[in-house]
Amino acid sequence: MPKAPLDLSLPTVRLAGYWIRLSDGRIKCQLCQRACTLRSNQQGMCRNRVRKDDQLYVITYGNLSILELKPIENTPFYHFYPGSLSLAVGSWFCNLACIWCQNHEITRSDPPMNQDDIFYVGKKALMRQAKIKGATGILFSYNEPSVSLFEYSRDVIPLAKKEGLYTGYVTNGYFSLDALEELVELGLDAVHVDLKGCAPKINPYMGGKMEVIWAFLRKAWDLDLHIEISTLVIPEITDSPRCITDIARRVSRELDASIPLHVLKYYPFFRAELFGVTAVPSDEIILRQAALAREYLNYVYVGNIEQRTIYDDTRCPRCDAIVIQRNKITVTKNFLTRDHSCPNCGEKIPITGNITARDQSFLYSIAISDHASREDEYWVMKTRSPKRNLVDSKKEEQHS
Ligand code: SF4
Repeated sequence: MPKAPLDLSLPTVRLAGYWIRLSDGRIKCQLCQRACTLRSNQQGMCRNRVRKDDQLYVITYGNLSILELKPIENTPFYHFYPGSLSLAVGSWFCNLACIWCQNHEITRSDPPMNQDDIFYVGKKALMRQAKIKGATGILFSYNEPSVSLFEYSRDVIPLAKKEGLYTGYVTNGYFSLDALEELVELGLDAVHVDLKGCAPKINPYMGGKMEVIWAFLRKAWDLDLHIEISTLVIPEITDSPRCITDIARRVSRELDASIPLHVLKYYPFFRAELFGVTAVPSDEIILRQAALAREYLNYVYVGNIEQRTIYDDTRCPRCDAIVIQRNKITVTKNFLTRDHSCPNCGEKIPITGNITARDQSFLYSIAISDHASREDEYWVMKTRSPKRNLVDSKKEEQHS
């Protein structure tokens, strides 16, 4: 139940999409696979969607927790406009319940819901920011964008396409396949999917079912989206050789061996301690899992580890030459030919978009001063002055 009555005059409260009225008077939300049924004043499991009277509203339209310019490799996307800067937006809440959520400050706390505290960014204002900051594209990320920013992204994506910007979703893959199809029709270019692990072990830790995410991936592949996948290596839960082998084999058989897989080191956050999931895997385990995945997939990367490894660069799957060199999340050299072929053996490397090589890291935030820490960012977001809202003009809003 929402804590206060819904203020329909807020720009962040909009009529929601993808729901139907049932014959018994309840409203069924069909945006994600949870399929919540709601009576008056009830909130969906995600908490983004609230029923008021006979309508369903989303309360986080353009209601941002973060707005950040960052290298796309930070997502991580390694084969999609490598080296580009993305304007990434995040909002609030999620439709899964992972006990180790590293973004729990925004997925598990309430967004500001009054005019003075919301950080609202209009769709045209977002386009202006992208231009001013030199972003090559827009990413919907951080919390689960499908449940929080679906209607917003539906408005933003066509504008971004007009401006020549790419668009991507960083998602848990738990939303409706029809909704995904609609976003693709509007121009969505890419998805990065968090493939949580292997069923049945992982299901209770995330409060969902892995098969739903596999079905989402198959649909994304059928829709010809650029896909990259991450999987977290968690001691005792997802760190077995069998689990990573199953994941890599399924990606290769049900999708394609050319899909990049990012094998990420786990660190405990949020309620991990409560559930006793506090151990951190060694770098050796991460590298072993990456090597096992490489048996089935052409492009495997590792993340969240300090040392430089052979899994930082993009290598040609045929001759093993380095074709894109990276220093952590910065692309430092591009050796590919104009048509993205290996200069050594001619193998075509599946890269979407242009490649931008740089010689330094470009990680910085545009939402706050450059020196602030991540904790400061969230603090600033939550207590943001209304003057920081980036709004569309009245005329632009009328054309929403
Ligand atoms: S989007 Fe939210 S309200 Fe709708 S089905 Fe999913 S969890 Fe429930």
